Amino acid sequence: MEKKIAILPGDGIGREVVEAAAQVLKQIEASFDHSFTFEYADIGGGAVDDYDDPLPAHTLDICKRSDAILLGAVGGPAWDHLPGEKRPEKGLLRIRKELGLFANLRPVRSFKSLLHSSPLREEVIDGVDVMIVRELTGGLYFGEPRERRTIDGEEAAVDTLVYKKSEIRRIVQQAFEIARLRTQKVISVDKANVLESSRLWRETAEETAKDYPDVELEHMLVDNAAMQIMYDPKKLDVIVTENMFGDILSDEASMLTGSLGMLPSASMGSEKPALYEPVHGSAPDIAGQGTANPLATIASSAMMLKYSFGLQRESDVVEEAIEQVLSEGLLPADLSRDKTSAASTEEVTKAVCTHIARLA
Ligand code: ATP
Ligand code: MG
Repeated sequence: MEKKIAILPGDGIGREVVEAAAQVLKQIEASFDHSFTFEYADIGGGAVDDYDDPLPAHTLDICKRSDAILLGAVGGPAWDHLPGEKRPEKGLLRIRKELGLFANLRPVRSFKSLLHSSPLREEVIDGVDVMIVRELTGGLYFGEPRERRTIDGEEAAVDTLVYKKSEIRRIVQQAFEIARLRTQKVISVDKANVLESSRLWRETAEETAKDYPDVELEHMLVDNAAMQIMYDPKKLDVIVTENMFGDILSDEASMLTGSLGMLPSASMGSEKPALYEPVHGSAPDIAGQGTANPLATIASSAMMLKYSFGLQRESDVVEEAIEQVLSEGLLPADLSRDKTSAASTEEVTKAVCTHIARLA
């Protein structure tokens, strides 16, 4: 299979972890006889330094011509003082908007060898495999008006939670499509006992479900969902929800695996390309030391293989290789109890590649 992959390292450890994931993709290419081409482009603080723009036009061009995008992380203290348009994070917001990436996917899986590092009891998290599908471009974070007012002579503020039916339908469809690749169950999370937007969400989810008779749809109120994530996460599978609910629930769910360094994500729209990136940021405190955990980004590349290229087996092999590296006890510093003997980014990456070569 021939694919063009845009590589956007960004800032801080973004550069290190993206290089690790690129090596893994090259190993997949070699082991499974595919042909991937990699095109590197600038985004974030580095792009502001070199081009005075966190998302230069050539970067957007390369992304639009690609089949999928792999991104590291953007930002860092060097750019914190910059005005709005020049901030590194703005590059990321703009790329999402330009590419119409309205769905954010955050899988949370527990790893046998890391069960001890979660704050939750092992029997609660052993076997957890949840996928949160968060609406990313609408809802409470984007609704207008959003402003200060005077109400009854007093300072007040208003935010607006608004969704068009078409916006709900496309994100719910995305969740159903993903459920087809998993256990055929979708939980739509809302607050339909209080919010009108949630009642429209629920109705639209029901209507959309008619096109997916093979997938089971359940509704859950967001407060209950927050509780279930802690109480019995094994019962959950694909969760689809509004922007702010998804923001909160996905951070809550991330505690099930233990470390930020393990969490991948994908952002997708109706058309290609989708964008894959670790959940963590640029971690300026450890940048340049070669100690960053590359597994979140490597797992993001596994998502790319599965969701953008339909390479299920290759994706499974990458995930299997991650499991094996962890179970051998080759742990990067963020997962290791003994920091002095922790594995470097490069050691972890090499070990993942060795396992891929063996498993393929
Ligand atoms: P952002 O605003 O970009 O999300 P942040 O301040 O929320 O950044 P991160 O950059 O994600 O935070 O880092 C939070 C903490 O987690 C830092 O101490 C960082 O060193 C650590 N961390 C994040 N990612 C990794 C990783 N891949 N490997 C090791 N440690 C990590
Ligand atoms: Mg953060």
